[in-house]
Amino acid sequence: MNQATAARADSPMIEITGLNKWYGDFHVLRDIDLTVAQGERIVICGPSGSGKSTLIRCINHLEAHQEGRIVVNGVAMTQDVKRIEQIRRNVGMVFQHFNLFPHLTVLDNCCIAQTWVQKKPRRGAEATAMEFLERVQIADQVHKYPGQLSGGQQQRVAIARALCMQPEVMLFDEPTSALDPEMIKEVLDVMIELAREGMTMLCVTHEMGFAKTVADRVIFMDQGQIIEQAPPERFFNHPESERTQLFLSQIL
Ligand code: ADP
Ligand code: MG
Repeated sequence: MNQATAARADSPMIEITGLNKWYGDFHVLRDIDLTVAQGERIVICGPSGSGKSTLIRCINHLEAHQEGRIVVNGVAMTQDVKRIEQIRRNVGMVFQHFNLFPHLTVLDNCCIAQTWVQKKPRRGAEATAMEFLERVQIADQVHKYPGQLSGGQQQRVAIARALCMQPEVMLFDEPTSALDPEMIKEVLDVMIELAREGMTMLCVTHEMGFAKTVADRVIFMDQGQIIEQAPPERFFNHPESERTQLFLSQIL
């Protein structure tokens, strides 16, 4: 096997060391070290503007960083386009505002990257799409356009679309924040099932019930730093930092 690209079974899925990032003069990520094991489920929380989105967007190079090292499934991030593509093949991402293609049907949303990026034949792409759309219980809506679906349904399609690429790790950036309350559970249920199946997951969310149910570790960020991290039991019952305590008192 190619040593440069293949992860060993016991090596971390994600390894971030000494990550620093600036937007112009603004130091948005400060000395981030974070190792995520294969199959580990991590919840990231923290005040608005603390750098949560920026951090997870650096993992698939939706944002470039200036200092530090990011290794995903054994592949070290560089500026090389091929390398970035290789990492992105391993990483699925789900956004707050779904980001589905509005002019494509649900089925086409789930097929397009498979046929264009993975060069799969249409028939195989459709079969994979249907498999995941069934898993998120939306298989009866496949010929509709995103605009014809509820927010919760659109987000489940977005999760299915990401899963169609067979990623090794899934990143979620506040996947339920844009949803009406009655739709939050249907999306969280899909995420909980994914966690139970052993998917490596990094979820930015303030759904603390979800964190308690599935997270192996909860990370609290503030002002571009990881302030505290602990298993949920300890994180919620015995937060160490005053900043964590203040944050929890505001959201719980
Ligand atoms: P969070 O997801 O925790 O709310 P973000 O990672 O989105 O935080 O943003 C962290 C900080 O970086 C915020 O102060 C935000 O205004 C700033 N920021 C985010 N994106 C950009 C950008 N593209 N250019 C300049 N500043 C940005
Ligand atoms: Mg954010």
